[in-house]
Amino acid sequence: MRRRSTQSTLSTPRRFFFACFACSALIVVSSIAAYGQATPKFDSSRAWEHLRQMLAIGPRPAGSPAIEQTRKYIKDQLTAIGLKAVDQAWDDETPLGRVHMVNLIATIPGATADRLAITGHYDTKLFREFRFLGASDGGSSAAFLLELARVLKARRNRMTIELVFLDGEEAVIEWRGNDHTYGSRHYVDVAKRSGALDSLKAMVLVDMIADRDLGMRRDSNSTKWLTDIIWGQAAKMKLDGAFLPALTTVEDDHLPFLAAGIPSVDIIDLDYDAWHTQRDTIEAVSARSLQVVGDVLLASLPQIEAHLNH
Ligand SMILES: [Zn+2]
Repeated sequence: MRRRSTQSTLSTPRRFFFACFACSALIVVSSIAAYGQATPKFDSSRAWEHLRQMLAIGPRPAGSPAIEQTRKYIKDQLTAIGLKAVDQAWDDETPLGRVHMVNLIATIPGATADRLAITGHYDTKLFREFRFLGASDGGSSAAFLLELARVLKARRNRMTIELVFLDGEEAVIEWRGNDHTYGSRHYVDVAKRSGALDSLKAMVLVDMIADRDLGMRRDSNSTKWLTDIIWGQAAKMKLDGAFLPALTTVEDDHLPFLAAGIPSVDIIDLDYDAWHTQRDTIEAVSARSLQVVGDVLLASLPQIEAHLNH
């Protein structure tokens, strides 16, 4: 289907080019990508498999052996698609003492060095009284970013894309003071000190995006033009049942970026019955929800790039 619609927009010489190679679907697909005529499609079945694999590791709180195992999984998957994850490691002070944390950063070079960061957390909240798997809360964002990495690696990107798997989003005890967003605060601190913040033009955060009954409201803390592009695109695609026009206010990993002056948006479904309960398991989430977010975000990227003049 995609090939046909793409070909109909091509000039005659290029149509001839494709006809010559029609016997090899692989060559045709790579040619389309090289000409920037089509973006590879987000495949939620791949994201779903990543989610299953990470849930099989068990609860994955910051500093645990299980999150170390999760990092290995993420890195191995990135390596398999030709991307290298760089560790941004540090020890942070928490109400439970020092905890070793690691953000994982994978960079996909674009036509310019200006960066668009796409981020999400991969840690799960520590609960001692029950087994918290975090299918949507921590699992969905990490699984989504892995599949998005595959798609964006094959896309011709106008800006450099930085995929950031954030550690320590969750409070070690309770969301107050500095007991939250350890990974995003550390990332922004490092970027400020190194001067890397100058080339960071915008940030898109995904969090809790696999709720079976997906309904994400616009976040009033997020940058308006970014929110308008993404929610507007969803409306064009008739996916406004998932990207709802109603407003809410969310505190999340986007706040340190916003405080540093980086336009940022949080795509999050906080209206999730299983939130921070033992019911946040594979039964509460769906691949379809990951697909909707993937489709809308990818369709929004050209507008985000255009807004940033790339
Ligand atoms: Zn949480």
